[in-house]
Amino acid sequence: MIDTLVLATHNAKKLRELRRIAEAAGVGVRVLGLDDLPSYPEPAETERTFEGNALIKARAAASATGLPALADDSGIEVDVLNTMPGVRSARWAGPGASDADNLDLLLRQIDDVPDAERTARFVCAMALVLPDGTEHVLRATMEGWLGRDKRGQNGFGYDPAFVAEGHAQTNGELAPDAKDAISHRGKAVRAMLAHLRGLDAPDGHR
Ligand code: IMP
Repeated sequence: MIDTLVLATHNAKKLRELRRIAEAAGVGVRVLGLDDLPSYPEPAETERTFEGNALIKARAAASATGLPALADDSGIEVDVLNTMPGVRSARWAGPGASDADNLDLLLRQIDDVPDAERTARFVCAMALVLPDGTEHVLRATMEGWLGRDKRGQNGFGYDPAFVAEGHAQTNGELAPDAKDAISHRGKAVRAMLAHLRGLDAPDGHR
């Protein structure tokens, strides 16, 4: 029975989100963040896949803390750019670039691309590593397209220009709960919680 988990992040928003979704799903687990634990040397995210980077972070957290560890890695894939920025989403405009720098550069790069070809998706990989070395990794996506201007104050990163499939508003205009319900990270967190519940079930039945 897993009663305590570490989420390998310093991001308070991700921590609150996981706690909120776990509570809503009736999963009684205590979730600690990296700021709640003694610090350890954190590895560089050197893999070329979201899954690879999520595993690097979860393995390091599990081995440093001795606790079951979760980590996520996410980004945006733009079809006309051959799925870039991908794992380089956070530093697309260079090291230390702001969210606005990254989004402005991306919009300039696809300035001449017609609407029908501006398809993109957010991707989130989430990895679970248990102290006995057991690993589980999964991926979830949110399909959509990139608009031409930035709208809305909610969300972060590429949200102000991303419109999810079946929606008219950008992610930046959606209320946080509405985004959680359809987002790559919301789906990944819910799928991982379902997996954890399965681990707790007698004889591993789900
Ligand atoms: P990380 O997984 O928190 O490191 O996020 C990687 C980068 O992907 C972020 O810096 C954002 O640029 C982008 N990204 C990931 N998820 C989202 C999202 O839900 N909305 C907007 N941008 C996102």
